[in-house]
Amino acid sequence: MSGMKNRAGKRKSPGFGTVAVHGGEEGKFAFGPVSTPIYQTSTFTFDSAEEGGEVEKRGKDGFIYTRIGNPTVRAFEEKMALLEGGDSCVSFSSGMAALSAVFLELLKPGDEIISSSRIYGGSKLFFAHILQKLDCKVRRFGPYDDLKRVIPPLINERTKLIFFETPSNPELSIIDIGLIAGLSRKHRIVSVIDNTFATPYLQRPLGMGIDCVVHSATKYIGGHGDAIGGAVVSTKNFVSAIRSNTLQHLGGCLSPFNAWLFLRGLKTLHVRMDRHCETAASVAGFLAGHPKVGTVFFPGLRTHPGHRIAKRQMSGFGGMVSIGLENGRACRKFINGLRLCRTGVSLGDAGTLVLHFASMFHPKLSDAACRKIGADPTLIRISTGLEDAADIIGDMKNALATL
Ligand code: PLP
Repeated sequence: MSGMKNRAGKRKSPGFGTVAVHGGEEGKFAFGPVSTPIYQTSTFTFDSAEEGGEVEKRGKDGFIYTRIGNPTVRAFEEKMALLEGGDSCVSFSSGMAALSAVFLELLKPGDEIISSSRIYGGSKLFFAHILQKLDCKVRRFGPYDDLKRVIPPLINERTKLIFFETPSNPELSIIDIGLIAGLSRKHRIVSVIDNTFATPYLQRPLGMGIDCVVHSATKYIGGHGDAIGGAVVSTKNFVSAIRSNTLQHLGGCLSPFNAWLFLRGLKTLHVRMDRHCETAASVAGFLAGHPKVGTVFFPGLRTHPGHRIAKRQMSGFGGMVSIGLENGRACRKFINGLRLCRTGVSLGDAGTLVLHFASMFHPKLSDAACRKIGADPTLIRISTGLEDAADIIGDMKNALATL
């Protein structure tokens, strides 16, 4: 986008939507296509024995093998870096591949990390199954702890990074990004945020001092529930270290076709997110006023404990709403009473997705047994879709009437 000019011919900083539509793609491909070509190729060939070596060893612009780089994938990475306001981006076959690449790049056996206790379950499982094998200890803080007081005592000479999500999956807890950035700078540890729920449209953590942003592109970035992928945005040095180390050696690269789907998804991210935010606010307002709904977790509600911070650091409150019903039985009845909204894992799609964690992940456990293992049996997560808000609310109203 460096060449973008306004009508008068002067360079200016383009807005988010303009970068989302044109960034990373324009002027790069032969014949001027409006849609980036899908370079559906595993490898690239050269005109001479010497040329390949120049690309591989001397950094000449070019591609060798799609696991390490591909023009369609590179276009997606460039658009992501522009949208997050970062130097560089490297993409992956899933959000978990992106997260694990960051952790494995930064950690060696015996190192420690600090993490928010409120993060995606898959990240917790990565800590439990992979980091534990590396003898890497995870020390946790709660999102609503007094962070300035609680975090410093968790840091020691082995601590390498601090990891958090805001808004978090699934309780939508909010953490002060600037505060974490300040603490990580002061204690010389790397700060890593999972920005999947907010997307770069609603929240740009690098500009608030965070070192590294990770995404599950599977969610809002793709936006249509048809592709799995992930991305890391950070400094040029860190991204190229990941590309030549964890990406190259573990091999979890993004496919050119999925990169193309994400490029397409990003072009409408701002428009979709505006609608997701608007609908989530309406749905949260309806649910908060319903007598059969207990807690409503939505950072846009004034009663949400993170509302003030969310208002300061986000440009919208997002498309996710979580609720608590009376018990697991009520949750199952609610899910089974829905007709328009569908039940399933994942989020950020065009259609509304509703998930009752206990029945999906602990189908045999009673409410009491769920509580014993730390799973809330009453929690339901709603990813509001792009249907009309009145239809989503009508569907929920009917389902709640069955309780
Ligand atoms: N981060 C968050 C916040 C998520 O919600 C998810 C998946 O739900 C992931 C990471 C993992 O992403 P993926 O499923 O693309 O591996």
